[in-house]
Amino acid sequence: MPLIVDDRRLEPILRKVGAGERLTFEDGVTLYRTSDVLTLGYMANVVRERLHGNVTYFNVNRHINPTDVCVASCRLCAFGKKARDPKAYTMSLEQVWETAGRGWTEAVTEFHIVGGLHPELGLEWYCEMLRGLKQRFPKVHLKALTMVEIAWLATRSKVTVLETLERLKKAGVDSLPGGGAEIFCDRVRRIICDHKIDGGQWLEVARTAHRIGLPSNCTMLYGHIETGEDRVDHLLRLRELQDETGGFATFIPLAFHPDNTPLRHIPKTTGFEDVRNVAVSRLMLDNIPHIKAYWVMMTPRIAQVAQRFGADDIDGTVVEEKIYHDAGARTSQSLRRGDLLRLIRQSGREPVERDTLYRPVVRSETTFSVLV
Ligand code: SF4
Repeated sequence: MPLIVDDRRLEPILRKVGAGERLTFEDGVTLYRTSDVLTLGYMANVVRERLHGNVTYFNVNRHINPTDVCVASCRLCAFGKKARDPKAYTMSLEQVWETAGRGWTEAVTEFHIVGGLHPELGLEWYCEMLRGLKQRFPKVHLKALTMVEIAWLATRSKVTVLETLERLKKAGVDSLPGGGAEIFCDRVRRIICDHKIDGGQWLEVARTAHRIGLPSNCTMLYGHIETGEDRVDHLLRLRELQDETGGFATFIPLAFHPDNTPLRHIPKTTGFEDVRNVAVSRLMLDNIPHIKAYWVMMTPRIAQVAQRFGADDIDGTVVEEKIYHDAGARTSQSLRRGDLLRLIRQSGREPVERDTLYRPVVRSETTFSVLV
């Protein structure tokens, strides 16, 4: 049966996708304007299956947030707190190391470490934290510190971004997460996160990290006050940097969660908008290998559907998620490995456990090995 395209504006884009041609800014805007989400999903699925066949990746990871104390006051944030706030916390180094190993029987392959911009913790504290983790968990990949945290540590410690990254790498950082990118558009950034580095600075930190051999992820926060044009501009700026460095492994579209933030009047995103963002990012980011449907943010059920709308990754076990749960996420704080296998299989995909660099992981009862 031939594909029935409801929105005729998508027909030229469908032809480009079939021919493997790069999509333009105008194509991206059309993709954000259409409500023909089935044709959109069909196109994204074609690209996704071309790249990854029937496989959906997941990993066994643990999130660690060493502190929620933050000098910035981004309106989009429900996580960061001032040092004087009685609810604020900062772990000691021993607490970070103890949290990393606490109460989890399945061997994790990755620690995902992000936190607030602490006024007093300097670069050396983070290097010590990383060295301690590497010493205790030598097989675990350390994906630590967003571009925003790196820039803050450089400022706080009065050294360059390059030196900051080199010292963190020497101390044990293996790659960087993709958070803090939000939306690069200055007009939007001034309203939602005016204390953060700007979009150009975020990209420059990523460029420097990639140059010294630290791969990273990248993200986009949608569903607040941005327009479709702002989203496409953001995606194209990521695509441009990827053409230059090839350092992004995965793109993660992140839905804005407004609860407990100064922007709580903004309605939450819908499932329609969530799968649309997965699909558009798969189509526009033709040079970024993986698109992740982050189950914590979009719920396991939408993350499952997203595996048919361009995503090839569902994230990991997580264990203890604070950032989205402070902003009202009602999802569980962790999923077991078996839950992830079930979600992926039910969506008709073949689950493959990966390490952070997408190498397959083979498990026995008590240990794991990475196929290189
Ligand atoms: S989003 Fe990040 S930088 Fe901004 S207030 Fe929250 S923790 Fe701090």
